[in-house]
Amino acid sequence: MSKTILILEGDGIGPEIIQQAQRVLELVNERFQLGITFTHGLLGGAAIDATGNPLPEDTLAKAKAADAILLGAVGGPKWEPLPMAQRPERGLLGIRSTLNLFANLRPAILYPQLVHASSLKPELVSGLNILIVRELTGDIYFGQPRGVRTLENGEREGFNTAVYRESEIRRIGKVAFDLAQKRGGKLCSVDKANVMEVTELWREVMTELGKDYPAVALSHMYVDNAAMQLVRAPKQFDVVVTGNLFGDILSDEAAMLTGSIGMLPSASLDENAKGMYEPCHGSAPDIAGKNLANPLATILSAAMLLRYSLNAADAADAIELAVSQVLDQGYRTGDIYTEGTRKVGTSEMGDAVINALQGS
Ligand code: NAD
Repeated sequence: MSKTILILEGDGIGPEIIQQAQRVLELVNERFQLGITFTHGLLGGAAIDATGNPLPEDTLAKAKAADAILLGAVGGPKWEPLPMAQRPERGLLGIRSTLNLFANLRPAILYPQLVHASSLKPELVSGLNILIVRELTGDIYFGQPRGVRTLENGEREGFNTAVYRESEIRRIGKVAFDLAQKRGGKLCSVDKANVMEVTELWREVMTELGKDYPAVALSHMYVDNAAMQLVRAPKQFDVVVTGNLFGDILSDEAAMLTGSIGMLPSASLDENAKGMYEPCHGSAPDIAGKNLANPLATILSAAMLLRYSLNAADAADAIELAVSQVLDQGYRTGDIYTEGTRKVGTSEMGDAVINALQGS
């Protein structure tokens, strides 16, 4: 059956890293007879330059029609002077909320070959394999009312509202429990239930849901403690589920445990496992167009796309194995380079993955 992937290159290093990921997808498409067709669209700064809109109608229509979306990254200094509502990042938020991509999955996996790239001691991080499940369409990022107002005494006051409905907590909880059941059987729900009523409800709903998953060991942790535990003893975690704001921060913290943001993929899924897949990093304007960017996070995002949205686990496994093999062979882009390894650029890293796939 034919499947459509929408490719959104975005800005900065986006086009370079997407080019390598698309080569990999084209190869596995042929080899595993996946029947994928590719469409392309504009998002972010590139879309602003071409149409004046960070999320053009054409892109939104293609995103709705596609089975999955692969994105590079958006944003850059060129568009920073624009008002908030017209910036590239608005395009990203627009796609996530229009498609109801409420579940953000961010694996933080430390490849044994990169254990020395982590800022933590090898014994603390070797074998690390955490999955952070972040709720992506609710919480204080979307809650109303919000704004900046002037009080009677003339002082300005900024305000946002943290809000979660029970149904929103339940649906992200289900995603996390299901994943924990398929992995190590442990789920840690992170909240601030000692201070915030909204997360008191979060904890209650997670506890109720836990009764449907007797095989999963559920624990609860306050977010301040979770931030500390992630650097103290990160291997205690298997799957972590949390809200949008806490998840934003904790997933970046977990990412850094692995040493390079250039290695980390992510998925944002709706209720039917349709999703948008992108590397965790941004558009890296400082190295854009220089063939320096690490394309592996984007290539691994393509593997997640195959696994979660196209149900093509064999092809996903093959890509993940190829990435591990190129690391074994010593290939490194600048962000993960250490003495004694082979420093390569973006396209050479893509070549190495293609070669590994062809050889397997
Ligand atoms: P960034 O992730 O783009 O870059 C941070 C640092 O990591 C830079 O030194 C960069 O060179 C390096 N880096 C990032 N990806 C790399 C890769 N694949 N290979 C090698 N090195 C890599 O974060 P930033 O500098 O804070 O943001 C730059 C722009 O990206 C901003 O406009 C920001 O809004 C945007 N951004 C977009 C997304 C997204 O599209 N999802 C996410 C974060 C930031």
